[in-house]
Amino acid sequence: MSTPPLKTSAISKDYGQSPALYPLDLELKSGEIFGLLGPNGAGKTTLISMLTSLIDPTSGTASIMGFDILKDSIAARLNVGVVPQEIVSHGFFSIEKVLNFHSGYYGIADNREHIKYLMHRLSLYEHRNKLVRQLSGGMKRRLLIAKSLVHRPALLLLDEPTAGVDVDLRNDLWQFVLELNRDHGTTVLLTTHYIKEAEELCHRIGVLHLGRLIALDDTRNLIHQLTRRQVQIRLT
Ligand code: ATP
Repeated sequence: MSTPPLKTSAISKDYGQSPALYPLDLELKSGEIFGLLGPNGAGKTTLISMLTSLIDPTSGTASIMGFDILKDSIAARLNVGVVPQEIVSHGFFSIEKVLNFHSGYYGIADNREHIKYLMHRLSLYEHRNKLVRQLSGGMKRRLLIAKSLVHRPALLLLDEPTAGVDVDLRNDLWQFVLELNRDHGTTVLLTTHYIKEAEELCHRIGVLHLGRLIALDDTRNLIHQLTRRQVQIRLT
């Protein structure tokens, strides 16, 4: 059996009032796109923040490509790219500079061709000398995605990747995620409260509600359960 790209072992988070995420066991298959569907406050960002070492779990742990996020956090981080909901900093840097800087952070000596590919594919190339502070919200989202991929991670975490973007950008980002998965074999975990997004992109979907995983199935079965109201959530 190959090492799962992501495996959580009873990972949980309690910020102090009530648990934001109850102990969660989740295992992604290599090469799949997995959707974590849930309304505001379900615990989606909390999970992503723990997986990327932004916050510590209250209990439990997870591994990324076999590396424990607590005991082997550097190795785990080298194998994961993350696109957070928040906007990139580095306001006075150009797009190209941000991407080069980020490559250096991973110790990659010559990453010019890969960065050029990412800038072209994400329609950033013509704007590569613009400062981050001059970019529109959509361009910043594209830059966040490019930045998450400079080190060619095996696992990509996308936290509500199309929230607040227009239809054209949304469709383009959907295509890009599918391409990345198909052509580069990248495993993807994406969070969303948009059923259509999960349905279009994901092989499997888990439903997170008030910090608990209340359903998990192949996309077709899961959508069937949602439409038959066998699984009930309000997504807005
Ligand atoms: P959204 O779709 O709005 O981003 P989410 O599913 O990502 O929601 P989280 O942001 O993980 O949900 O929040 C889960 C719960 O934890 C919520 O009740 C939220 O208020 C709480 N929470 C999140 N971050 C913190 C924090 N830093 N301190 C205290 N409580 C927090």
